[in-house]
Amino acid sequence: MATATAAGKARCVTCGKEKSTSRCDGCSQPFCYKHLGDHRQELNKQLDEIEVSRDLFRQTLTEQSAKPENQTLMKQINQWEQDSIAKIRQTANEARKLIMKHTTKYLTEIETKLNTLTKQLRESRAEDDFIEADLQRWNKQLTQMNNELDKPSTIKIQHALTPLINTIRINLSGNLSVLYF
Ligand SMILES: [Zn+2]
Ligand SMILES: [Zn+2]
Repeated sequence: MATATAAGKARCVTCGKEKSTSRCDGCSQPFCYKHLGDHRQELNKQLDEIEVSRDLFRQTLTEQSAKPENQTLMKQINQWEQDSIAKIRQTANEARKLIMKHTTKYLTEIETKLNTLTKQLRESRAEDDFIEADLQRWNKQLTQMNNELDKPSTIKIQHALTPLINTIRINLSGNLSVLYF
């Protein structure tokens, strides 16, 4: 703060010299006549900066009004959507891979069983050595192989208790408005 001297002159806050001063109404600080102009110029510069910021904000508001999907909130939902899809896709891919691997294994097993049956049938026919019980047994074996091929008993798909993706909620003015799954 300026200190009044014996001569009644105050010290300019810019140059620090004891001179005739004028107090700025805004900040109540004393400035010599030379520096009062500088002070006003500095305030003008600050006003210019505010105007630049305002113009930029005006531009942002216009852009968002034209494209509401660019809003941060919209982006958050888009992100959730993409993350969820990626998670589901990854899980489905892993599940498919696992089933493919297992399928190859049980197809080989069925193939072996069928080869054994084929050998038995050929031998029995060549020797003309088979009875009703044999026919029944072979029929049963074929039916079992068919069933196993259609619906393998060693693979089952179950739904997990914990959901793969998290739900999102939209709160409007503190009230739970919509729940999306
Ligand atoms: Zn001065
Ligand atoms: Zn001032």
